[in-house]
Amino acid sequence: MRATLWYAMMLAIGVLAVAATLAFAVCCLSITITTPAHLGKSTFSSDPKDISCLCDTEGICTVTWSSENIGGGVTESWPSGNTGTSVTLRLTTLPNDNSHFGPTWVQATDGAVSDKNDFDLFFSEEATNNPGEVEVPNWYYYWSDTLADYGTHNYDSGLDSCGITYFDEGAWRSYIGTEANETPTAPLKYPCTHGIDCFAQVCRHEERHRQDFSSLWGAGTDRNNDDDPDVDWLPTDNGTVTENSLGTPYHEGGYNPNVEASVPDHWHYGPLWRDCEDYCMHRHAVWNNGDADSVDWANPGKQY
Ligand SMILES: [Zn+2]
Repeated sequence: MRATLWYAMMLAIGVLAVAATLAFAVCCLSITITTPAHLGKSTFSSDPKDISCLCDTEGICTVTWSSENIGGGVTESWPSGNTGTSVTLRLTTLPNDNSHFGPTWVQATDGAVSDKNDFDLFFSEEATNNPGEVEVPNWYYYWSDTLADYGTHNYDSGLDSCGITYFDEGAWRSYIGTEANETPTAPLKYPCTHGIDCFAQVCRHEERHRQDFSSLWGAGTDRNNDDDPDVDWLPTDNGTVTENSLGTPYHEGGYNPNVEASVPDHWHYGPLWRDCEDYCMHRHAVWNNGDADSVDWANPGKQY
């Protein structure tokens, strides 16, 4: 009798052990996302952009993926479905403003078990896959939507310098060139300036020129050599101010109306140094390098 009881107990224990093992095996114990890497970087380099989403699991898991609704016109989809340990997140249409780049996430879930990886979304700096109506590089499109931007300007893809301001189609206009996202060399040397800081400095410099020329020559009037024989782009006497009176806060006696560069190039401006540049350099809006680093989502850029 005792032997039978003992046998029954052992059988019960065995059945429970098998049941526990089976229950253990059919549960999802853990999910660990391996790609995209947590706190990693992903670049919206093409449109659409496919992002591999991979995870490791313990137990038996049916993994379902989700992602942030990025906004700004971006569409998220899962072309091969959002279930499994290896799926693809497809992003279509780059955001229409800069604020939708940066932190985003994907999540993999089975019931109460889940994992979530945060990563940053960037744009390709020189590509033109932004949704703007006029084709401009991404850096010009997205940086123009940050505090680095300043004044009124357009992009000129044929201008192989940082920027220029001249009388064009009835008004004084500023153009940002193809080098305004790089490290400026002469002309326009700003210490330790590159990328979004270069853009910020150039915008402020050209806007100062635009306002100066509009004021000195007239908003709808081009400069001429009769009123500017030394071709420094400052009129000798426009009826309101004389070139001798301009610049006096910085240079005693102002500028010499008969000398193109009547003050030394103490800005290390380089070629094309002339009095209108000194007049501008002393007075354009101040930009502190680094102030826009946290909103620079260019690759390469201040955060990539
Ligand atoms: Zn000066």
